[in-house]
Amino acid sequence: MKTLHACAVCGFEGLEEPLFVDGEYLNTFEICPCCGFEFGFSEDHDVVHGFITIPEEFLEVAFQLYRKKWIEAGMKIFDPEAIPESKRKHDVLKFDVLVKQLQNLKLDLSNFDINGFEDFE
Ligand SMILES: [Zn+2]
Repeated sequence: MKTLHACAVCGFEGLEEPLFVDGEYLNTFEICPCCGFEFGFSEDHDVVHGFITIPEEFLEVAFQLYRKKWIEAGMKIFDPEAIPESKRKHDVLKFDVLVKQLQNLKLDLSNFDINGFEDFE
């Protein structure tokens, strides 16, 4: 079986290419089947952060902005067929699944300025 890589935005483990090799961002142009982030494109075009192309050291900012937008818009799954049915309700990711995925990314959920995360201490 092929090793799949976790999406840096939503944490879903479904990417065929790693996002970083030796600390360098790869611009794979792979689209996460869960959150729809396109690596190498979305960080510059699908979020507003004040840069034309975001400097690599600020990538996390773009990921966070997209994450916030995606979660607050209702966590609609980009390609529902690619996500196990147990993790979603029709074409929406289940919240507890999302929380687990984000925890696997080692994100500090108590520091999220995202609706729905107010109760994480
Ligand atoms: Zn994703």
